[in-house]
Amino acid sequence: MFLKKKPMWGKKTKLKSSYDVVIIGGGLHSLATAYFLAKEHGITDIAIIEKNYIGFGGAGRNTAIVRANQRTQYNVPLYKEALDLWPVLTKDLDYNLMFNNCGNLNLMHSEAAMKAARMTIATAQFHGVESHLIDAKEAKELVPALNISEDITFPIHGAMFHPPGGVVRHDAVVWGLARGAAKKGVEIHQQTEALGIGTQNGKVTSVTTSRGVINTKQVLISAGGYSAALIYDMLGIKLPISVLTIQAMVTQPLKPVLDHVVSSGAYHCYANQTLKGEIATGAHMDPWPNYTTLNTAHYIKHQAEALSEFLPCLRGVRFMRIWGGLADMTPDMAPIMEGNNHVEGFFMDCGWGYFGFKSCSAVGKYMAEYMATDVCPDMLKPFALKRYQEHKLMGETAELVSYSPDN
Ligand SMILES: Cc1cc2nc3c(=O)[nH]c(=O)nc-3n(C[C@H](O)[C@H](O)[C@H](O)COP(=O)(O)OP(=O)(O)OC[C@H]3O[C@@H](n4cnc5c(N)ncnc54)[C@H](O)[C@@H]3O)c2cc1C
Repeated sequence: MFLKKKPMWGKKTKLKSSYDVVIIGGGLHSLATAYFLAKEHGITDIAIIEKNYIGFGGAGRNTAIVRANQRTQYNVPLYKEALDLWPVLTKDLDYNLMFNNCGNLNLMHSEAAMKAARMTIATAQFHGVESHLIDAKEAKELVPALNISEDITFPIHGAMFHPPGGVVRHDAVVWGLARGAAKKGVEIHQQTEALGIGTQNGKVTSVTTSRGVINTKQVLISAGGYSAALIYDMLGIKLPISVLTIQAMVTQPLKPVLDHVVSSGAYHCYANQTLKGEIATGAHMDPWPNYTTLNTAHYIKHQAEALSEFLPCLRGVRFMRIWGGLADMTPDMAPIMEGNNHVEGFFMDCGWGYFGFKSCSAVGKYMAEYMATDVCPDMLKPFALKRYQEHKLMGETAELVSYSPDN
């Protein structure tokens, strides 16, 4: 018998000719913002416009790692709140987001890296985020599979251990937020591409889509890797964003060998074991800007070599699936969030690189407050575009020190 299933995120509705708010992109940040606009501010006349299907972008491609031990004073509180929100959202959405706070180990491969990690740890601890420096032996006690011998390319000196971090099931987040927003009246229009934003006298008036024109006074673009090009094409605003392809893969399922997220900046590699037993691993980014999302043989070779050095029990294990997605990178590895600046009623939330999953819960909450009140919350103030003109870059980038954080 053919069962006609009702979509989890509400009935398919006709696109109306006007909405209070239009959100371009059906990813993590747009769904979270719509959910909080409806839940916290009673704004429900919202259309989410998604050109493919919800979760098509980084939302459905990421490796699900969450943590709050960022480098700088502005970022740590935002990511801490995001981390604290996973259990709250699981309850509020009545949807199991499968938060597993198994802890993250960020391996250090030199004494200089250990020194630099102390700064990061001090910032985290100052903001109430649990993070410690441990030596190689302690790392091995936590992750017995680690190779702490001297005869590998990058011997392990220690690790930054962040117990409250871990993984959250990324597609559950997409579906849970979509269902939660739709229950409150938000409309999600898939297969609907945003083509332009209409303005008059410096104010937003409409959004042109592949299914017609929508009149609206407020638009948010949070379209992940596509945001910078859309914002330039639609409003002529140039952003300091490069779009790179980032790849990830999973191995065949194995018996439990890894119960923490382990990452290494020197090896450009991170790994964790999923509930199915697969080792999910990633970190390599194409060094040149591109929108291809294609996989490369170089990446497969790199990943196999790196894993078999620092987790040698994985030698000979088969990779089963591989995929790629877009990372929208800013020069300081911190996002751009602002509103009502260039055009009244226009908001942007982009430049998340490979940090946009772990942040989406808190960002949704604060972007919703910003859009509902027209007042930028203190938490978001440091992330305005003007920081690049004022030389107030954030220093989240790993370029200047000899280690980089995991995803
Ligand atoms: C391989 C990989 C691994 C990653 N791992 C992690 C991780 O472990 N932890 C972490 O925190 N982050 C990770 N990330 C990054 C994270 O996935 C992104 O930062 C995040 O998805 C960005 O969320 P978003 O809502 O801004 O955009 P997205 O989730 O990318 O959604 C954007 C949506 O906009 C839609 N869109 C684009 N143009 C239009 C248009 N014109 N009209 C309508 N819709 C449009 C797209 O179809 C897409 O669905 C990873 C990313 C990749 C690719």
